[in-house]
Amino acid sequence: MSQYLLLFSFGPVQSFIAQARKTQDLYSGSYILSHLCRKAAQKLSQEVKCEIVFPDMKNKSVPNRFVALVDGAAVNLSAVGKEIEECARAEFKKIANEALNKLGLKKPPGFDEQMAKNLSVQWVILPFDGKGYRESFKKLEVLLGAIKNTRSFDQLVEKGRKCSVCGERNVKFYRKTEDESKTGKNVHKKLFSREVCVFEYNEFKNVELKHLQPGEGLCGVCFTKRVAEKYFTDDFEKDFPSTAKIALFDPLDRLEKNGVIVPQKIEEEAIFDLKSGRKPGRELTQEKENAEKIYEALKEKKIPFSPYYAVLLFDGDSMGKKVSSPNLKNGASLKDYHKALTKKLGEFADKVKENIIIEPRGHTVYAGGEDFLGFINLNYLFKIMKDLREEFGKIKLSEYTDEEFTFSAGVAIAHIKTPISEVLKWARKMEKEAKEINDGGKDAFGIAVLKRSGEINKAVFKWRIGEKWVTDIILNIYNNLQAGKLSNKFIKNLNIEFLKLVDDSGLFDEEKIIELEIKRLLTRACMLVEDDEKNELIAKTIRGFI
Ligand SMILES: [Zn+2]
Repeated sequence: MSQYLLLFSFGPVQSFIAQARKTQDLYSGSYILSHLCRKAAQKLSQEVKCEIVFPDMKNKSVPNRFVALVDGAAVNLSAVGKEIEECARAEFKKIANEALNKLGLKKPPGFDEQMAKNLSVQWVILPFDGKGYRESFKKLEVLLGAIKNTRSFDQLVEKGRKCSVCGERNVKFYRKTEDESKTGKNVHKKLFSREVCVFEYNEFKNVELKHLQPGEGLCGVCFTKRVAEKYFTDDFEKDFPSTAKIALFDPLDRLEKNGVIVPQKIEEEAIFDLKSGRKPGRELTQEKENAEKIYEALKEKKIPFSPYYAVLLFDGDSMGKKVSSPNLKNGASLKDYHKALTKKLGEFADKVKENIIIEPRGHTVYAGGEDFLGFINLNYLFKIMKDLREEFGKIKLSEYTDEEFTFSAGVAIAHIKTPISEVLKWARKMEKEAKEINDGGKDAFGIAVLKRSGEINKAVFKWRIGEKWVTDIILNIYNNLQAGKLSNKFIKNLNIEFLKLVDDSGLFDEEKIIELEIKRLLTRACMLVEDDEKNELIAKTIRGFI
């Protein structure tokens, strides 16, 4: 019986997901790629006798790729591959068409071209003799990499105003500003095109404000991500929490615990506007009224809140190697190991979504097992980081291998108004720096603090020093500083502490942490009243320790 291994991959992953202005865009992009992968795998199962080796399609989130073992007797596999590719492309089109239909919108000219040019689908098929699973798998990865590198992308050349989200493709949907609606200004001139579907600033019959803001112009792809909720029904999140809501997760939870009823509909950003003394918008809506009530309640109950939140992502260390060429125990089958690993990663992903990243701690965008992307409320950040890493370390496949499972994480702490694509870029950058720690040592995390002023502080840490978790140490120092209370000084203090803990190259300095701890303990214990005397004694004692 002739068998084949097939690897299917969808893209462009990073840009498709990162081109986002709202958390909802980010989530939609990630969801659509997962959905296409699932559809393609389903189609393959219908067409031929096959077994999906990776991922476990029962998982809630699946990545943008899958590997299948196909029984290829008397089947034209190249034709099957093309058919599956077509199926994925057709599904992508269908998402857009049905969403537009439900909104009662006509497709503007050029819409289909934008959609078709955006999705890239790659696949590789290799004969498989049933023995050299490891070698075949490696070859598959190499071939796919080669295809990705050599494929020349068919760039779409368009003249006109570019999309507010991706900045790449032309605007196909535009909502006028209040001024443009009232003065009847010709927006087509501004957009350099008549091929645009234009809405009045207060026209919400079909397209709601959350789909398109006044003055916002979106291309076909970015608009499809915005309105994808019209197509998906089951587990698609129609109202992914905004960055402002994530920053308020914990304060609102504390408010509820204080007996205050928090209404469902609040314009969270307005709470921050009020805090900084700005009047939120012109028209008073129910959401704004609720925001005012909540703002007053937070003030009254003295619950501090900060306009900062965190994006956290992680990626399993050396997973490529652990999948394609692990150190297997004698007699262990790579295929069985793959199945067991896939299952374990799936279980971990479910635990992350259902037990670890739950409100008010944060909200998951994507939990694929070996990788993760989510938004975290700052008050829970260090605890969550430790919980995730600790749980991942519990993945054991001792029947097959003694390898340890670790991951490296990137965190970007940012203001709610900082562009999401920028925050995501920094989180990825910090993940990369974490992997590169001590010449590729991995099993680390990197944090960047993006201040509103544009200043950026960053640091990279190993997860542990000996038995001690670095996240615990940081949290401990922080709690001591704050005496258990978080305030809007969080960022300032965090920065100060980071600067104390890292050396010039941004690497975390173990000695400095110990020094700081001793200093803290000494200061607490020191009974001398005169500051000069006190400082001298502390300095002397520290020198004696280190
Ligand atoms: Zn766009």
